[in-house]
Amino acid sequence: MNYLSRHCRSISPYTAGEQPRDKSYVKLNTNECPYPPSPAVEKTLREYEAGDLRLYPDPDCTELRAVIAEKYGLKPQNVFIGNGSDEVLALCFPTFFDEGDEVAFADVTYTFYKVWAHAFGVKARVIPVDKELKLDPEDYLALPDSVRGVIICNPNAPTGMPMPRADIVRIAEQNSERVVIVDEAYCDFSQESMIGMLNELPNLVVVKTLSKAYALAGARCGFALASPEIVDGLNTIKNSFNSYTVNALTQKLAAAALKDTAYYAAVIDKISKEREVVSDALRALGFTVLPSRTNFVFASHKTVPASEIYFALKEEGVLVRHFKKARIDNFVRITIGTREDTKALLDKVAKVVKNRS
Ligand code: PMP
Repeated sequence: MNYLSRHCRSISPYTAGEQPRDKSYVKLNTNECPYPPSPAVEKTLREYEAGDLRLYPDPDCTELRAVIAEKYGLKPQNVFIGNGSDEVLALCFPTFFDEGDEVAFADVTYTFYKVWAHAFGVKARVIPVDKELKLDPEDYLALPDSVRGVIICNPNAPTGMPMPRADIVRIAEQNSERVVIVDEAYCDFSQESMIGMLNELPNLVVVKTLSKAYALAGARCGFALASPEIVDGLNTIKNSFNSYTVNALTQKLAAAALKDTAYYAAVIDKISKEREVVSDALRALGFTVLPSRTNFVFASHKTVPASEIYFALKEEGVLVRHFKKARIDNFVRITIGTREDTKALLDKVAKVVKNRS
């Protein structure tokens, strides 16, 4: 007897970055922040009363929405919060698309978009990136009526490369009949956020996370910024699925983090500088490193295949990410860590490359 639906049996889920427990690794495979969250987060955690967990959390995340709105010069009605930006992005599918509609995104981008499309019965219109693995805005300017939305990851993952804001504005303007979702998971490391355009572009949805620059991956918090009508739509879907997606403690931790601009500016600066150190050192070891504006680099070696580098580094106790996927299977994605992580990484990479040549 098979109790699973045909739909369930037909889905290939997303594979999250591995978390092996056999030994301790230098973990550079899931783009987490190598530094702790703001001291204000730690203080909030210490002062939190366990007794408060007795009550359900605020389903509307009222305080956190006010903090986010103020930070970005918007109104609370422009803010929708979820259990990580994965949940926010997933909820976008039933909010904007009916079964059989199409959604357009790049072939080389966050692989979860394709999984959600399948899970929600939406057709994926996959648009190839160019030879340099960049999105060409021209490809997004004359989409057929069957396409009800576009998703752009900016900067893109796993390449790390940003698309200039002016290009995304052009895409959003040319696609005024459909939603344009911009996944800004890594945008805190670049200068290309679309948030400032929200009041002019009613079809724009900007999705952000506290898992990367804000060092709160374990707390699970992400949010969408959009028109009040779109936020209402997201709430309709969310409240038809689970009223309490964001737990009470996370709502408080996220608010404390988002208020501490100075701390995170320093973290972002440190990671961005370290990224250039890592990029230059990898180039000196024979890698092509794409110009990243994120907290990771995407690199391909001129002679040693990426899968070998991935396995050899794992043996040496360094975890990086390798995608067995057309066009990018000769790249490894490496998260930027602390200076000590960089030392360990470069030491092991040099050893792996030397052993092979
Ligand atoms: N978008 C992109 C491009 C990502 O890489 C990730 C992290 N895997 C997410 C969204 C989701 O992040 P989270 O659910 O932790 O907010």
